[in-house]
Amino acid sequence: MTLKSVNQFPVTGRRVFLRVDFNVPREKGGGKILDDTRICEAIPTIRYLIEQKAKVILASHLGRPKGRDPEESLIGVAERLTELLGCEVIFPEDCVGDGVWKLAHDLREGQVLLLENLRFHKEEELNEPDFAAALAHLGEVYVTDAFGALHRAHASTVGMVSQFKEKGIGFLVQKELDFLGKLLARPERPFVAVLGGAKVSDKIGLIENLLSKVDEVLLGGALAYTFLKAEGIPTGKSRLEEEKINQARRILMKGKEAGVAILLPRDHRVADRIASDAISKVVDRIGGEDIGLDIGPETSRQYAGRLQRAKTIFWNGPMGFFEIPAFAAGTREIAAAIASAGAVSVVGGGESLAAIRSSGLGDKISHLSTGGGATLEYLEGKELPGLKVLET
Ligand code: ADP
Ligand code: MG
Repeated sequence: MTLKSVNQFPVTGRRVFLRVDFNVPREKGGGKILDDTRICEAIPTIRYLIEQKAKVILASHLGRPKGRDPEESLIGVAERLTELLGCEVIFPEDCVGDGVWKLAHDLREGQVLLLENLRFHKEEELNEPDFAAALAHLGEVYVTDAFGALHRAHASTVGMVSQFKEKGIGFLVQKELDFLGKLLARPERPFVAVLGGAKVSDKIGLIENLLSKVDEVLLGGALAYTFLKAEGIPTGKSRLEEEKINQARRILMKGKEAGVAILLPRDHRVADRIASDAISKVVDRIGGEDIGLDIGPETSRQYAGRLQRAKTIFWNGPMGFFEIPAFAAGTREIAAAIASAGAVSVVGGGESLAAIRSSGLGDKISHLSTGGGATLEYLEGKELPGLKVLET
């Protein structure tokens, strides 16, 4: 697959439509931005375009609005972006229409326009051709830095793209592909994957694909209980996906055949309910009424030992119900072990990134992937629609 990078074609004096992923986590209702990483990560491409005297048109989705909704406006993002760039950001009330068309065509070299939330129009997610055409008419060149949206075939990520002769990827997408591509192609060994989080069904494709790439898989979080169950180990009232038990068993067998060690938690922090004032204890064997909510200290130690020897690490999914401090120790200890391993480390996933950042270890990780679903699908070996349309 050949993709052009934004610095491989002329942008000076041209209207560049830059699809970004400014879908940032915000305070409920209030709209205060809780984490601006996704905005910061797009700055190098935006700055480059400004320096090259392009006319910059930024477009993003935010949240899941049903139609126009002031709570899901990108206005807060526009303000944050103004601060980060130190220049004016023109912010119209919509992303299409005559007014927007005129603003885009009147842009001067080096000026920046941020369109209002693409998802105020249901046509965005439906990838509706007229809407895609209206977006396409705004720009002369198409660039995407919206790594987190590349697994979606929407109007702004796929539909409009075919209308551009000149198109390519920004520096953030380039960086993501470099790191994730290296993981898949030529990782330094041992390569250890730590996988946790809520649902087996979200991650089973990823686990399966990683079996042919990694040397060891360390499992934790809620998804580990489905694997324990597949081994015939009791899991009490822990979260379980009955219909995935067979697939989990198959993966464990595949691991054996491939010589990949798949480690399951050997001790657990359990409680009788999910609450911050619940009484919890560490057990080797989960009782009938117990809910498993974190890996136990013995498992943490064992996993940390494996991570210390690793040369490449991929982590997705917390080891426990880390939002409640009583069940955060496993996740915290694994984060610390990854940060101090001295390996090439890549962390992806919304909650995993939140966990790494809240422990203040973000800058000890080689690459924090902005992807979420896109990162997982890429590592699963799936083709990302938003990249496929950019192939030249
Ligand atoms: P990521 O966003 O990093 O990919 P996921 O969305 O898959 O991670 O999973 C994160 C969620 O998994 C967290 O909200 C956490 O509370 C939950 N979780 C982890 N371990 C457990 C557990 N043992 N029981 C219930 N929920 C869990
Ligand atoms: Mg998540």
